[in-house]
Amino acid sequence: MNILLIAGHGGTPYDPGACGCGYTEAVETRRLATAVAPMLSKYGFNVTMYDQSKDAYKVLSNGGSLPLFGIGYVLEIHLNAGVSDTGGNGATTGTEVLVHTAESGVSVEQAICRRIAALGFKNRGVKRRDNLWVMNTVHRAGISHALVETCFIDDADDMKLYKAKFYDIARAIADGVAEGFGKTVQKEDDEVVEKKTVIIDGGIYTCSCIMKNGENYIKMRDLEQAKFDITYDAEKKLPGIVPPQTRAQVYPWGEEVQQAIDTLQSTIGLEDATMVYLLKYQYGDELVKKLAKAVQGKA
Ligand SMILES: [Zn+2]
Repeated sequence: MNILLIAGHGGTPYDPGACGCGYTEAVETRRLATAVAPMLSKYGFNVTMYDQSKDAYKVLSNGGSLPLFGIGYVLEIHLNAGVSDTGGNGATTGTEVLVHTAESGVSVEQAICRRIAALGFKNRGVKRRDNLWVMNTVHRAGISHALVETCFIDDADDMKLYKAKFYDIARAIADGVAEGFGKTVQKEDDEVVEKKTVIIDGGIYTCSCIMKNGENYIKMRDLEQAKFDITYDAEKKLPGIVPPQTRAQVYPWGEEVQQAIDTLQSTIGLEDATMVYLLKYQYGDELVKKLAKAVQGKA
């Protein structure tokens, strides 16, 4: 079965969704979708990741459409908000899954709720809605849709647990879908041999090291704690790892300015030292972008 995975909010102009406890919904929905996708693939589902640079809601409200051809199930990921318990009262507000009012069966969604709740979140259960644009659009196309409200972004108790159990939450979502669609839920098949202190990029981190078939592995989730970016390329269907230093060195001034730098260097052959000199100027970013524009105009 083909599953379309949608990370809520984001897009251009940027909709951060809800914010709280130092988290931004649009960022977390993408991290979750990225973590859930390979787990669903492992169960044999064919996962289509909705373009993470887009906000499905905005695309639809601007007259666009969703890539629903051949899709059997749509899973949309969000975080809930509205309790303002940023100090933490010791109890989570919890998890819930929204489905369309006319949705016939909710066993998949109940399984997701139950599995997330098993990690310590209050189970708010499956709720029915008929006023959500993306959900209604998918429903009209005759496809089941579920919106996971993972936990409350403005509840410190929820987010403390979220931080500690991020990958377990992703796994709970994937396992819930697998269970709901009648697959045998797999146990995590790697075996923690020992916790080792490892130097990664000059920083010291405790990582779970796994010995399997004579080879050593470090869990990807531990790399993420060491500030590596774990990404998922929806087109190539492969996970990617970006080390923190590379990231910082490549674009300290942002993507747009970097593009302008590339344009200037490739068209009029300005040297690195010249670029650094230009960027040091108070309005260097704007100057570089203007120069690139002017140069492109002539090309
Ligand atoms: Zn949301």
